[in-house]
Amino acid sequence: MPALIRWYYSSCIWQMPSSEPAVYLTFDDGPHPEITPWVLEQLRKWNVRATFFCIGSRVQQYPEIMAQILQEGHTVGNHTHTHLNGWKTSDDVYMKNIQQAREWIPSGLFRPPYGRIRQSQIKELIHSSGDRVVMWSLLSGDFDRSISGEQCMRNVLTTIRSGDIVVFHDSEKAWERLEYCLPRILAHIKDKKWEGKRLEYKYL
Ligand SMILES: [Zn+2]
Repeated sequence: MPALIRWYYSSCIWQMPSSEPAVYLTFDDGPHPEITPWVLEQLRKWNVRATFFCIGSRVQQYPEIMAQILQEGHTVGNHTHTHLNGWKTSDDVYMKNIQQAREWIPSGLFRPPYGRIRQSQIKELIHSSGDRVVMWSLLSGDFDRSISGEQCMRNVLTTIRSGDIVVFHDSEKAWERLEYCLPRILAHIKDKKWEGKRLEYKYL
């Protein structure tokens, strides 16, 4: 991530401490009735914990999937109720949308859709709820239909290091690439003897 962007969003979390041999996988835009259970199955197989930034309206539609995410020991985070772009949305509408999602998602973590959020929105969010805004240090690119699953795998495996926060999507748009890259990335993480950890609000 360019240093200037990180500096602009310096009140957000971009990376976890690299002192521990652990990586932090995150999954945005779910829950999805088939893809999310598949992701959970992969994580179970490799004994990896992760964080799911859910869209409120999708949780409303599939509350049982979110219950399963929590039951299996993962963390959930708020990703707005209807996947709003903060740059194109008034602060008032944006905050109300987050509040609406909060009714469905028990979490003190927030990730802005598209990584696009205004300073005024971050300030209001931190001020009103104490939520922590989580960005990322590594994008798999699984949302990009113009690249292959193998390329996504390489995007992650060529640079991944301890403390990285990695973005995937448990969504239809990403499925083709996710199905290819996730099991291979999980195998690599375990091969390195890294732990796959969830983000925990209390430690951030
Ligand atoms: Zn998203």
